[in-house]
Amino acid sequence: MPDAACGVVACTFVAPILPRVLSPRFQTGTTTGQRQPDADSGGTHVDILLLVDLQHDFLPGGALPVIDGDQVIAVANRLQPHFTETLATQDWHPRDHASFAANQPGRRIGEVIDLDGLSQILWPVHCVQESTGAAFASQLDTKRIRRVFPKGTDPRIDSYSGFFDNGGKQATGLSEYLQQRAVRQLFVMGLATDYCVQFTVLDALQLGFDTALVVDGCRGVNQHPGDSDTAIQAMTAAGVTVMSSEQVMRSRQQA
Ligand SMILES: [Zn+2]
Repeated sequence: MPDAACGVVACTFVAPILPRVLSPRFQTGTTTGQRQPDADSGGTHVDILLLVDLQHDFLPGGALPVIDGDQVIAVANRLQPHFTETLATQDWHPRDHASFAANQPGRRIGEVIDLDGLSQILWPVHCVQESTGAAFASQLDTKRIRRVFPKGTDPRIDSYSGFFDNGGKQATGLSEYLQQRAVRQLFVMGLATDYCVQFTVLDALQLGFDTALVVDGCRGVNQHPGDSDTAIQAMTAAGVTVMSSEQVMRSRQQA
């Protein structure tokens, strides 16, 4: 459940975007850098919708809310029937997670500490495993979600990306799953644009997956004005295709 400290800070993300160690990358074995279908998958190419952290604690009223974060739930519900497969990431912390200010005596929410060599913003307690706050948004259609990839489960390291922890060491299994499914294009949406969505997209691109950002399916923290725009620019520079959900649905109908 949300931590009491949350009420003190008006429950918004309170930190600057910090540099993050990019993850170790596998070699694609191609000259283009784009992933090739896994010959052993036995499946057809699929386009996959990936929902990033659509959880109570990131919605208004939650422990770490993103402004208007609830408005993307309807986008997720509209898009899902257009895909044969939906996946989701889920922030899923043990209660003793080192990223919680409450677990760092003398420290306050928003402070940045060194955590095993990585810069770590201290957050309110959020998305504690099995808590209501960690659950998917109640309005989200979860019936179509084929698999959930938890992240942030190691108490000593945070994870913004759905692929790897912030040190780029532990993988969630998402990349292997996409490889096995011979994903043709990955469509990403969720919360928040300038944190978990951004790092998930950048990892997907660096892994060689053809990736689209469903821009109206995302909301950003924007602790500093323009952070979301900067994140979208960074994702675009890295090769993401920016689409509206309307464009996605139209393209799916034509496919
Ligand atoms: Zn978290």
